[in-house]
This record gives sequence, structure tokens and C-alpha cells, in this order.
Amino acid sequence: MNQKAARINIAIDGPAGAGKSTVARMVARDLGYIYIDTGAMYRSVTLKALEAGLSMDDDAAVGKLANALDIVLLPGKDGQQVVVNGTDVSSRIRTLDINRNVSYIARLESVRKQMAELQRRMALAKGVVMDGRDIGTHVLPDAELKVFLTATPRERAIRRFKELGDEPGITLEQLEREIAERDRLDQERDIAPLLQAPDARLIDSTGRTIDEVAEQIVQWGLAIARTISTEEK
Ligand code: C5P
Repeated sequence: MNQKAARINIAIDGPAGAGKSTVARMVARDLGYIYIDTGAMYRSVTLKALEAGLSMDDDAAVGKLANALDIVLLPGKDGQQVVVNGTDVSSRIRTLDINRNVSYIARLESVRKQMAELQRRMALAKGVVMDGRDIGTHVLPDAELKVFLTATPRERAIRRFKELGDEPGITLEQLEREIAERDRLDQERDIAPLLQAPDARLIDSTGRTIDEVAEQIVQWGLAIARTISTEEK
């Protein structure tokens, strides 16, 4: 990337399995930006809340637990490495059990408040690609580029099914139902629901390759960064 180009923040939101994390990682790599997977943060809180035997709707208790967590996101070989209180939890936060519980934890006000604060701090220096559900609407409403990435429910289920490997432990149809339920919970919650920001650019990734989608976002990002650099001169 042109050294003189301004650094911007890029928000990528959308439902489960739309390809956000893969795309966001590629965009960050191409632009020399930092990738932040906010879903991994909610997943980490969920893991710790389950381990502690907390009720998924106990806002005070889960909020207190979240406050004591040190969540660190590091660039890893196959995605983001997630370290919580010094322990690598990268694979433990991707299980079906976490998938089934995370949207309940993500409804809690105290948890959302803490995660959003943390995420805003991470984006202060600019040059961040952040993916999630409420990044363009709540966490970074001033992000210079906002993308809402989606795909048909069937396509999203197929992608997640492939990620589960040889022993998925679930049928494709069940997975599609569970994804639809998670989307419903994310869309219908009171605080910061999954929603396309009015100024977000919509990309339907159904039938498109991840490379094409990432390239489109990189081009948009470069164009915006160049415009800002020109205006700043
Ligand atoms: O992106 P991923 O599927 O890992 O996110 C897991 C869950 O975390 C989502 O279904 C949603 O409930 C929650 N989440 C959220 N806000 C974000 C990111 C994730 O509520 N910014």
C-alpha cells in the first residue's frame, strides 16, 4: 500500500457463515492492517461462563467474569489466535457447544459494553479491519468503510459444515437450523442487534469466491484512503 495513503478503519458485519472472518483476514493482510475478530471475544466470554457454571442470562455475574478476563487476539497461521488469561483457547471457542450458547451471552448489556469499549480502544490508532455484528452500527460508527457481508442461509450452512471437518457431529440440516436460530437471536436482541448500517455497502457472497470479495473490499478501502490523503494535503 502507498506509504502516504491515510489509514482507515474497515467494519465488516453480517450473519454467521457469510465469510466475514476469512475475508477480513485477507483484507487486513493485503492492506497491512490489523484484523480483529470480535466474535472470538464473545466466544471467549461464553467459554469461561460455561466453565464457571454461570447462567447464560445472569448479566451481573457474567459481566463480572468478563471484566476479569484478559483477552488477547494474536495473528495466527490459520486465523486469529485467541489467548484468554494466558491460555490459548483458539480451538475451544469454535465448538458446537459455544455456537449454541454465544448468542445468549452476547445479549447481556454488561458484556456488550465491555467488549465494545475494548474493541474501540483496539481501533483508536486506525488501520484495523474488524468483523462482527454491530461494528458499523455501534462499535465504530465512524469507520471510513462499512461492509455488510451476507450469503443465502444454505450457502452459509454449507461453509460452516465444511469447517467442522470429517466428524461434524451434526447434520447439514441441523446446522442450517442452528445458524438461523443464532441469526434470529442476534437480529432480535435489544442491544446492538445485527443490522446493516445505512451507510454500509452490501455484498452477497453467494456464488462468489472469497478472493473476489476480499479484492472488492481492498479496492474500496484503497480508494477511500486515497481520497482522505488527497483531502488532507
Ligand atoms: O462471528 P462469530 O460467529 O464468531 O460470532 C459469534 C457470536 O458472537 C454471534 O453469533 C453473536 O451472537 C456474537 N457477536 C456479537 N457481536 C459481535 C460479534 C459477535 O454479538 N460484534
